[in-house]
Amino acid sequence: MIPFNKPPYVGREEEYIRQAIHNCKISGDGDFTKKCNKWMENYANIEKALLMTSGSAALEMSAMLCDIQPGDEVIMPSYTFVSTANAFALRGAKIVFVDIRPDTMNIDENLIEDAITDRTKVIVPVHYAGVGCEMEQIMDIAVRHGIKVVEDAAQAVYATYNGKPLGTFGDFGCFSFHETKNYSMGEGGAILIRDKENIEKAEIIREKGTNRSQFFRGLVDKYSWVEVGSSYLPSELNAAYLWAQLECAEKINMERLKCWNQYYKELQNLERKGYISLPYVPEKCKQNGHMFYIKVANLEERTELIKYLYQKDIYAVFHYVPLHNSKAGKKYGVFCGEDRFTTLESDRLVRLPMYYGLTEQQITYIVGAIVDFYKNK
Ligand SMILES: *Cc1c(COP(=O)(O)O)cnc(C)c1O
Repeated sequence: MIPFNKPPYVGREEEYIRQAIHNCKISGDGDFTKKCNKWMENYANIEKALLMTSGSAALEMSAMLCDIQPGDEVIMPSYTFVSTANAFALRGAKIVFVDIRPDTMNIDENLIEDAITDRTKVIVPVHYAGVGCEMEQIMDIAVRHGIKVVEDAAQAVYATYNGKPLGTFGDFGCFSFHETKNYSMGEGGAILIRDKENIEKAEIIREKGTNRSQFFRGLVDKYSWVEVGSSYLPSELNAAYLWAQLECAEKINMERLKCWNQYYKELQNLERKGYISLPYVPEKCKQNGHMFYIKVANLEERTELIKYLYQKDIYAVFHYVPLHNSKAGKKYGVFCGEDRFTTLESDRLVRLPMYYGLTEQQITYIVGAIVDFYKNK
């Protein structure tokens, strides 16, 4: 059986976890967490990066840092993971969904401005499959309207737009290190903070609403409760697992891109014949091989193909059910404008197995099975 995903594992994870145990530090913010934070700050060339318990937690903390109040409006695509919306709905925001572009499955930057009202507080671009949204245009809209930007870069670690890492354009960027992502710690994530003035507030929220971080830096002589916050520090054991992978981030990235490129090349014939569409990566974007998907004719054909592949021991999956069609999406959100592509395109999308360690032979076998499926049709 070729699984859809395998958690990344490079070999030094146990050694580092053992080291954390012997350091007598398994709670948060120890040496491994600091190493991971530094790595992200260097890689992204950003003021501050903080490891978090999940990508969802990073999004939730971003909503708090944007000071979301009940009734505020937040613009995002409907084609995204539930956490993107939950983070803001939790603070009482109304979610305003905007249609996607059919080529990248990202929010259509040309529709954002129509969705803005005087209650709009944040735009949340989601970089689907590690392919960047049109950040130039989105940042321009945000600046002109005085709106904040939170990037859901959960899938976009190591991907860039105009040569600049995704997650560093907006006020806040959110990474995920869930086991389905390119770099993992089981459950985990990070928040990237662009502006200096937001760092202190972020450290306070992340440390249960206390000024503990300032205390450790010797800036205050005792620490206490100064704001509402939560516990968003991951364990050192998880950070140790992640550190093993960040140490060879480039290698993991290259391997994934190699798989992605092989899929692309070997499936091109089916695209030329008009059976499927392949993903599109705009010139400005450098993707990270997070995901390989194809789009088939319609929902019915997708169901057949997934079943066919399963019979061949290949585990392929569909992806998001658009949020505005879901029960909670109807309760907490509203779709602005026409749903031209969100439902249509999401119904056609199939994700193929993609993980660190997927072999050339396996990809050839998977492509062969897809070719057979269309031969038999
Ligand atoms: C994975 C993911 C998240 C959530 O990350 P967790 O670490 O699982 O909480 C949020 N948004 C998107 C787009 C994701 O892919």
